[in-house]
Amino acid sequence: MDVSPILDQLNDAQRQAVSAPAGNQLILAGAGSGKTRVLVHRIAWLIQVERISPFSIMAVTFTNKAAREMRGRIEELLGLNPRGMWVGTFHGIAHRLLKAHWQEAKLPQNFQILDSDDQLRLIKRVSQGLQLDEERWPAKQTQWFINHNKDEGLRPDYIQTHGDPHQETLVRIYRAYEEACQRGGMVDFGELLLRAHELWLNNPRLLQHYQDRFPFVLVDEFQDTNTIQYAWLRVLAGDRCAVTAVGDDDQSIYGWRGAKIENIQRYSQDFQGVETVRLEQNYRSTRTILDAANAVIENNFGRLGKTLRTDGDDGEKISLYAGFNEQDEARFIVERIEEWQRKGKSLESCAILYRSNAQSRILEEALLRESVPYRIYGGQRFYERLEIKNALAYMRLIINRNDDAAFERVINTPTRGIGSKTVDGIRLFAREQGCSMWDASEQMVSNKGLSARAANSVAAFCALLNELDNQTQELSLEKIASAVINSSGLIEFHEKEKGEKGQARVENLQELINACRAFNPENDDLSPMEEFLDGAALDAGEAQADEFEDAVQLMTLHTAKGLEFPLVFMAGVEEGLFPHRMSAEEPGRLEEERRLCYVGITRAMEKLYISYAESRRMYGSETFNNVSRFVKEIPDALIEEVRLKTAITRPVSFGSSYGDSAQSRPRLGQRKLAGRLSDDGGDTGLSLGQRVLHPSFGEGTILHFEGNKIQINFDDVGSKWLIAGAKLDPL
Ligand code: ATP
Ligand code: MG
Repeated sequence: MDVSPILDQLNDAQRQAVSAPAGNQLILAGAGSGKTRVLVHRIAWLIQVERISPFSIMAVTFTNKAAREMRGRIEELLGLNPRGMWVGTFHGIAHRLLKAHWQEAKLPQNFQILDSDDQLRLIKRVSQGLQLDEERWPAKQTQWFINHNKDEGLRPDYIQTHGDPHQETLVRIYRAYEEACQRGGMVDFGELLLRAHELWLNNPRLLQHYQDRFPFVLVDEFQDTNTIQYAWLRVLAGDRCAVTAVGDDDQSIYGWRGAKIENIQRYSQDFQGVETVRLEQNYRSTRTILDAANAVIENNFGRLGKTLRTDGDDGEKISLYAGFNEQDEARFIVERIEEWQRKGKSLESCAILYRSNAQSRILEEALLRESVPYRIYGGQRFYERLEIKNALAYMRLIINRNDDAAFERVINTPTRGIGSKTVDGIRLFAREQGCSMWDASEQMVSNKGLSARAANSVAAFCALLNELDNQTQELSLEKIASAVINSSGLIEFHEKEKGEKGQARVENLQELINACRAFNPENDDLSPMEEFLDGAALDAGEAQADEFEDAVQLMTLHTAKGLEFPLVFMAGVEEGLFPHRMSAEEPGRLEEERRLCYVGITRAMEKLYISYAESRRMYGSETFNNVSRFVKEIPDALIEEVRLKTAITRPVSFGSSYGDSAQSRPRLGQRKLAGRLSDDGGDTGLSLGQRVLHPSFGEGTILHFEGNKIQINFDDVGSKWLIAGAKLDPL
């Protein structure tokens, strides 16, 4: 048998891990040392050499994208599709189990996944139902409370409130929320894991079945498993299963979402005869980048301790750029990308990483101005777009009329004369009757609980859905999507919208039909539509619609975990932002921020730029920040500060306001004198970067002030110069 493709491209330590006898195995190693590669090759080895059936293997990845890539790599190595193998995220696998065993899990067969947006709305409604003041009980905090407890595996009855009335109220909302979910057949992300765990505990025979089926389980990014995931895995593995856990304690960055770095150590104690393998050679980054990453992470305490070396070149120094403000920083980055492109490199090979999602907007605007294609990875994703969620809501209602979240979303979209008062009335009635809003509507229509006009419109809406359901019974998924989009009036609705946005929405809806056409059902337990809808909710659209266009990748540092790019920009690396101001005071959180920095640096293969803005508009006011302490932890010898030699004279670029060499750049106190452009709107009460609403152009962002003119980038109609007296309402 020729095992060379599986073992050839590995070093000794990797080879040893890949070909080890069956047993529990911990692969503990730093970034870029080939952990994920080992996991993939191990699976190929099990199938090809050990003759293990793919049916007996489960692999857990951190994202759905990683799962798809893993399948692809295994297929490449084996030359065949590893059908029957389960590869997915903890959530994806839990979902699959619950769908297959909905009765044992005490769920309706057609249960739906509640995404975080819908969850928040439901929590709001539940709190209202309990007559709780929204100011005192902000839905966001309650959402955190509920999710946090679910991550810890705690149902309301098990939460220790110690008689604290505040906690008791939160538990009360949690309980009411659970009831609402159960009634509507909805399951949030945390619930997926919790139920899947309970499924094991309450059904020993089922558990036995899966323990027999999966003697091999492999988990990537093990350092970010949370309590309930660990517990689920522990129960599944029992005493017989061989678990390969792959991780790096220095890359544990989801503590805020309940991840437990300690799980790595627990694993060694809880599982029998764990063989620990350490990989010490980094294949990803230049020596400079690696030395910088190591220097930063050394400042953390209590690490498990690993070494990481490279045979690679020193490579270029890390470039540090101090932007005058965030616009200047963004412009700098875009110019470097254009330079990179001029060298014949692809855009795909560049990533811009930032600490929080809100930072992307400025970067996006700078990219848009220069027409550089970009993709937000994990941001406003295809399946999260308004029009797509609306179309999916119709499909969800076809399957399950009791899905209140979907019902509320589309009862008046497109507008059909059902006002918020009517909807409030239906909601109230549903609450009183303990039924779904759909049932409430039907009852109210027949018992004249609505005004004649409202009753007509509501009845028409219900009839529309019933008809869609009838029409689409025997149709393919693609045809169902097409029928939904056309009969619901969504296409016409968006066609009427002015500007490019409406156009983009129509295109997205058409793209949804394409997505349905291309959809490949894998799970025989579900109808294709159910599988598709659940996939859309689970995937959270990690893949974007325009996946094949060459584009710069924008993402948060968290999302970048596990990925690599030849050229990486880390933007906004300044105190207050990174480390985040909420984390700087607390040692535990500061260490997690530092690990995030380690993750960021180690994404870079060839070249790393770090940038920050000396002044930044943040949370509505201007702040002056110092460079991040993490940058100071990198030895000077590895960094070169970038000084711009020539000024850029494009009028729209804020950077053009200062002189033509670094020496003449205005320092802090002199800024206002430096150019005629000011970074505030004088007495207009407006400020740079602010979001505003214009009566005809809609919403936009202030890009620029000059004399009595304001430049605004409108979401729908693009950039425009307006007179300072224009009617603009701050948002
Ligand atoms: P992270 O901690 O960031 O998830 P990792 O440890 O999982 O990183 P991989 O992504 O598996 O590392 O590997 C990093 C890079 O090194 C990849 O491009 C991979 O193909 C390459 N690589 C790994 N092992 C070898 C090897 N033995 N020879 C050549 N290249 C390798
Ligand atoms: Mg990896």
